[in-house]
Amino acid sequence: MSSPSQSVLSARIQAVQESATLAIDAKAKALKAAGEDVIGFGAGEPDFPTPDHIVEAAQKACADPAMHRYTPAGGLPALREAIAQKTLRDSGLEVQASQVVVANGGKHALYNVFQALVDVGDEVLVPAPYWVSYPEQIKLAGGVTVALPTGVATNFRVTVEQLEAARTPRTKALLFVSPSNPTGAVYPHDEVVAIGRWAAEHGIWVITDEIYEHLVYGDARFTSMPVAVPEVQERCVVINGVAKTYAMTGWRVGWSIAPPAVTAGILKLQSHLTSNVSNVAQVAALAAVSGGLDDVAIMRETYDRRRQIAHRMLNALPGVVCAEPQGAFYAFPSVEGTYGREIGGRVIGSAMDFCDVMLDVAKVAMVPGEGFGAPGYVRISYALSDADLTEGLDRLAAALS
Ligand code: PLP
Repeated sequence: MSSPSQSVLSARIQAVQESATLAIDAKAKALKAAGEDVIGFGAGEPDFPTPDHIVEAAQKACADPAMHRYTPAGGLPALREAIAQKTLRDSGLEVQASQVVVANGGKHALYNVFQALVDVGDEVLVPAPYWVSYPEQIKLAGGVTVALPTGVATNFRVTVEQLEAARTPRTKALLFVSPSNPTGAVYPHDEVVAIGRWAAEHGIWVITDEIYEHLVYGDARFTSMPVAVPEVQERCVVINGVAKTYAMTGWRVGWSIAPPAVTAGILKLQSHLTSNVSNVAQVAALAAVSGGLDDVAIMRETYDRRRQIAHRMLNALPGVVCAEPQGAFYAFPSVEGTYGREIGGRVIGSAMDFCDVMLDVAKVAMVPGEGFGAPGYVRISYALSDADLTEGLDRLAAALS
């Protein structure tokens, strides 16, 4: 029997890029499986377990027959209400529970939004480096990603001038994320205001991804654009979820908060796609968002310490330059200064090479910037133990010395 060729796939799916991180990830996993002591800087998820009170709420829900049934497509009414209240508590944005749609993670919530808002040929402005799923999801909606490059010199923040230069009659939306994955950048309040005013003035939708809202460090402060610039609210969708704040990546609960017409569109779509998010996971999310923020305060303190270790040790590496990450749990150093060096019998000529060589020589796994629209950079997650973090960075130092 012949194996199915790529041509059996729809043109739509053929156009989606495989993750540039897959090759290195597969290699890291293969090395680990072969018993190698690999330090993983690749994972974009907290290393903490989900707090006990959340797990206990889910355990109780498992035994409740009411939780063995479908819920409304938009989510458990109590969860939608609690998300509206949590949004007011945490960012100051006043929303109705009816504007909230609970989805299978922030990733799914974003997919819903692009499907609901973006028509074929519509342009979406996406500051680069960007999280890998944005352009692929925009493509799946028929839209066109217009990437706006930023770099270490500007702390990875896009300017109104850049946005204005990219604006065309087809510009439908701006994807805004602060704190950012992969760069850890956090926009100061005045820049959020300037960008929000620009979007409102030109009738451009803002999709603001607030999934790292609680993970900001030092003097950085999280600013929610629709709060800072109320004029954007009529064309604004907020994306959020429990994954990063409560160490709940595996529970798969996120949400969108959108104006009523967009919410109606998302509900229509979701009712045909998933019916609803697992009830048990929704009950866990309810316990998370209606509980306090003590657990995240402890996690934030831990990440902050690791962030400072990572920033200091990365900048001490020859050929590596790292802006100070201000949020999330990623550092995003430039490794261009290592190009041309021969290490482990290979000459480094790209971030992909750098990651490949460091995995072979130092047994350290990192994600190359190519997949984030940022050749020359690598992403390092510091959501791992202090001991592993230091050991991994020591190994890089030894390989580069
Ligand atoms: N947005 C950003 C910027 C992310 O980094 C992630 C996860 O890595 C998500 C959204 C989606 O998170 P989840 O689908 O786990 O809720």
